[in-house]
Amino acid sequence: MAEEEEEEIRAPLLTGESDASSWDPEALDPSPPGAAAAAATALPETLNNELGIESLDYDPVFSVVHAKTTTIKQNRRLYGYTGATLAKWSITICIGVLVGMCVDESNAIPQLAMISGLIAYVIESSQEFLVTEKKSFAQKTVEGSLILSFLGFAGFSVLLILISSCLVLFWAPPAAGGGVTLVMAYLNGNDIPDFFKLSTLITKVGQEAPMVHIGAAIASAMTWMHGSLPSDKDASTKSSRSCWNAKATNFDFYNDKDRREFISAGAAAGLAAAFGAPIGGVLYSLEEASSFWSKKVMWRSLLCCTCATMVLASINEWQFSMALPGSMAFRQLKPGFRIRDLPLFAVTSVFAGVLGAFVNIVHDRVDRLRPAATRKFSRLLEVCGITVISVAVMYLLPLALGSCLQVPEGPLPDGKMDEKYWLRYKCSKGEYNDLATLLFSLPRKSMQQLYNMQGVKHQFPTADLAIHTGSVLFLFIIAYGTATPGGIFMPSMLAGASFGACMGTIFQAIFPGENIQPGLHAIVGSTAMLGGVFRASISLVVIMVEGTGGIDFILPIIVAIVVSNWVAHHIYHAGAYEADLERLGGVYFMHSEPPHQLAALTASDIMSPNVICFQEVVPVREVLEVLRNTRHNGFPVLRHTSAENSGAGEKFVGLVLRHQLLLLLEEGLFSEVDSSRQQHRFSLYEKPIPKQMLILEHSMRAYHHYHHPHRRFLSSRPPEVARIEAELARKRNLAEADMAPDKKTKKVVALDLRPFMNRAPLTVRRECSAQRVYVIFRTLGLRHLCVTDSHNRVIGIITRKDIAMAQKQGFQKKSLQHW
Ligand code: ATP
Ligand code: MG
Repeated sequence: MAEEEEEEIRAPLLTGESDASSWDPEALDPSPPGAAAAAATALPETLNNELGIESLDYDPVFSVVHAKTTTIKQNRRLYGYTGATLAKWSITICIGVLVGMCVDESNAIPQLAMISGLIAYVIESSQEFLVTEKKSFAQKTVEGSLILSFLGFAGFSVLLILISSCLVLFWAPPAAGGGVTLVMAYLNGNDIPDFFKLSTLITKVGQEAPMVHIGAAIASAMTWMHGSLPSDKDASTKSSRSCWNAKATNFDFYNDKDRREFISAGAAAGLAAAFGAPIGGVLYSLEEASSFWSKKVMWRSLLCCTCATMVLASINEWQFSMALPGSMAFRQLKPGFRIRDLPLFAVTSVFAGVLGAFVNIVHDRVDRLRPAATRKFSRLLEVCGITVISVAVMYLLPLALGSCLQVPEGPLPDGKMDEKYWLRYKCSKGEYNDLATLLFSLPRKSMQQLYNMQGVKHQFPTADLAIHTGSVLFLFIIAYGTATPGGIFMPSMLAGASFGACMGTIFQAIFPGENIQPGLHAIVGSTAMLGGVFRASISLVVIMVEGTGGIDFILPIIVAIVVSNWVAHHIYHAGAYEADLERLGGVYFMHSEPPHQLAALTASDIMSPNVICFQEVVPVREVLEVLRNTRHNGFPVLRHTSAENSGAGEKFVGLVLRHQLLLLLEEGLFSEVDSSRQQHRFSLYEKPIPKQMLILEHSMRAYHHYHHPHRRFLSSRPPEVARIEAELARKRNLAEADMAPDKKTKKVVALDLRPFMNRAPLTVRRECSAQRVYVIFRTLGLRHLCVTDSHNRVIGIITRKDIAMAQKQGFQKKSLQHW
């Protein structure tokens, strides 16, 4: 009975008969029965449908053909050098330079960076448009009507936001939000559809958090361009195919494994460029964005970040005649601090950390109330509503609560821009409205002002700083998560700076004798707020130090990070990115540590039984049927062994991927075999491996470039099974009926998978602990892991989705039920 069950589990589609020995100790363990199997496949389907997300494949295919092509490539080396390394470094430099050019302080390129994660494009463009004549739009209202100005500004904002929001909703949905979360998910092994498409890149012209996505997208585009152009020629013309050996690219980097390295470096460069922080960028990629890291990736990221920062610094030098890379660098005398100030910094950090965690909690609640992504009209309405609210806040708050203060004299932190910085807004001549100034300025400029607050006489009174903190927090919480391509990194920093400066002025009032610098508290506040919201550690320290050029304040910054992380962790369990990943349907993020829910489980508890397998030589009809009826991407390949050998039955010999099968069919690499024979000793292709097959290996890579549904940078359709079937019928006269075994000759049209299948796929025994499975999966970046019994027979298969399911359901140890 138990044996029958196992037979069923093992190979539902096998044609060969099994002659397993009559007593099998493993048969006593009735591995996952049908009900569990149904449950195990129920969720993955919904997961799949939600975003159509599949896994990336980092595991190389060790096939006979692969081995052969590698040998040929090695023979072609010039004194042992193939040029691949040089090509990789060159690509890295190009990525860095391009990323550096995407950010520049003059806003020459229109940017979508946002004060509230939303109105940035408006603010930046309107500053460009309206502030150039030394008077801002708001200033002009002194002379004109406030209502008219409000309507004009709001209308302009709504228009620009509508454009960017429509782009996001109707053209490039993956461009929504900061993008860091999805970069993290991608680098973890989730293939996000269209995430690096050209449309997404265009929609996402922004700064800071969006820059991480832009950097990653540029890196992805570079690998695509490098890898695809030559092979396009090869793959498309028959004549060049035949001379493939001589001409084809030695290396192409458009595969999941190489791409992930470039994308890690690109993401690092994006952040480095946004803050002028090369080391910060590398550390950010290491700590937050990347899941796979090595010394090589570290070097590549460092080079990429350095190039990006260097380009940025050159642009700065050309514009401001100084090569300060830090985007918020002090351009004035730096204040000092004493060790006995540290406790006060810690107090500021505690409160900022609480605020950070509070942002996470409120965002979580607010996000649930938002209209679903499919209701595009409601999403547009929402965005417009929030824009109008934001503009109203910007206009009304300064009017109701702002103070009119004397414009400070002397050199101001931001060099040339000072006169433009202070906004008069209904105040008399020579004065500025502090709240209007803070709310209408670019976040970066306001932060610079706040970080530079020194002495006792300041430009911003305590109460107004508190109001500003509250309004920025309010605005970015309501705007974060809308259908706009903006992030929350800058807004968090701005709110933190404002809050810190406010704390600093309060401390000044409490301890008048102490030489307290509100500007330093602003830096600590920014850092602590980032710590509370994102829960990163060393990368934030370095970003702040490099961004402000303030290596002298490293101690307060470290105190801020440590204290805020600790406080925030006790209030809310996850940082903004992790919380987003948890909410995101379809994505399963594998952390580096195995989840405790898997502790008591084994591989056989989490695997999917009823594995669809193929024989080494398999009828085309069967392959087509499986491909048509399932969406699985990997199929174990089995060999029938005769009863004389020990442990006879269907042995596991390899793994074949869906795209390989599709390509073999498309290329028509099948022939007629005798269907009565269980085994074909020799390959259908005579030895040595014909050239045709090596070409196929190459075109398999070309296939990756063009036809994988989610790897399209520009659009091109993947070959559908139906299309291939139609083509088979048309070109080769192989209709469904012709594929059936011929009754007389017993011949059948079949594929020989042996030269192409991965001969060294990883397997685990059914007793292997689930946590170990998790670690193997995570560290090697696997897509399929086959589970075998003691006779090397496949009894199950594990994919990322099975692990996700097991973690969700937890503690259901089936394999122990019968003990
Ligand atoms: P991915 O979509 O992550 O690239 P995949 O398409 O091969 O991988 P999934 O879509 O993740 O597989 O699998 C959905 C479910 O089907 C999982 O529970 C998995 O274990 C199972 N599965 C995968 N391959 C096979 C197969 N060849 N036979 C039977 N079940 C399979
Ligand atoms: Mg799938």
